Amino acid sequence: MIRKVEEVQLKKLERISPSQYCTAKKCPYKLVLANSYGFKQLMPFSPNAYLGSVLHKIIELISKGTIINEELFDYHWKKEIDKTEAMLKDSGLSTITPLKYFAEGFALKKIKVRNLIKNRVNAHVNRTVSNRKYLTEVILSNTGKTISGVVDLIIEESRMVTIIDFKTGVVFDKCLNEDGVYIVKEDYQYQLKLYCYLYYLKYNLLPSNLYIVTLENSYVNIPFSLIECKAIYDEVICFLDTTNVSIDIQDYAGLAHCSIDNCKYCPYRPACQYYTVWLDYHFEEMKDLKGKLLKVNIFGNNSMGIELKVADKIVLVNGFNQEFYRQMEDKKGQMLYLFNLKKNKHSCNATANNYTIIYA
Ligand code: SF4
Repeated sequence: MIRKVEEVQLKKLERISPSQYCTAKKCPYKLVLANSYGFKQLMPFSPNAYLGSVLHKIIELISKGTIINEELFDYHWKKEIDKTEAMLKDSGLSTITPLKYFAEGFALKKIKVRNLIKNRVNAHVNRTVSNRKYLTEVILSNTGKTISGVVDLIIEESRMVTIIDFKTGVVFDKCLNEDGVYIVKEDYQYQLKLYCYLYYLKYNLLPSNLYIVTLENSYVNIPFSLIECKAIYDEVICFLDTTNVSIDIQDYAGLAHCSIDNCKYCPYRPACQYYTVWLDYHFEEMKDLKGKLLKVNIFGNNSMGIELKVADKIVLVNGFNQEFYRQMEDKKGQMLYLFNLKKNKHSCNATANNYTIIYA
């Protein structure tokens, strides 16, 4: 139950993928930690993220023509869900299985992705009567492979090229542009424009269209120009260079940008020394706590609570299972770092839940 952060040597970035860039530019240290930990998760994702991976895989199989009817859909759906749930159980996350009870909108998303079969079958039929090529999971890289990513689908028809990325979550920002139209999230725009420029570098041919395809089978157009795509590409090259210079001179503090938005879902919070210091002043706004363990309390319903000294306050955290009593007792007097708690509205007290992780 109580984990210890493995110490690793921080490594320079050899490459970055188009899907990583926007998050990395907000806090470069997040990517440095992810890369140094070999992208190993230090915190569980939400069940929605695991369902998202299953949906993405199923969309890929539909677009490849592997799933062409309901029987095949049912077979692959079960296979992917079983595989994901087995992985969750193996990594100690059985409490968020089965996913159908814990992931939001499980049934609706399953129906939506099943509905995609019809559209893809029609497209598949068209493939035989035209010279269109449907290429799935295409790796695009620059010459040095410093920027490299996998495109979900490229459609080539003569010199007309369309790049498509599938998204299973919300595609638009909450704000509107000056014409009153919702704009596509910056991360997704950057991702598609970088794919576009990588394609251009590789084939000396500028794609004609960039689209995001949603679970509702909407095609969201991303307008672009070659100049704009190149500017983003140059920006990423510069980001890699400056980040690696900071790693060389060990200026990690200059790479870590702590803020509520950057840190609240960062899976590397346990390994980020800047976050744990920042948390001292922001624990009331976050779902995490850092404090000295003072006392362990046993309750009648097989549950357990602890008392922590957080800044100058005594904070109670309940909802732990008693089977961890001995482990907790052994940590008395030490600093504990608790992540993903449910905080009480009117005090700093909190309750542990299925996603709570403790590091010492
Ligand atoms: S916890 Fe915050 S500051 Fe630290 S790496 Fe993650 S996002 Fe960056």
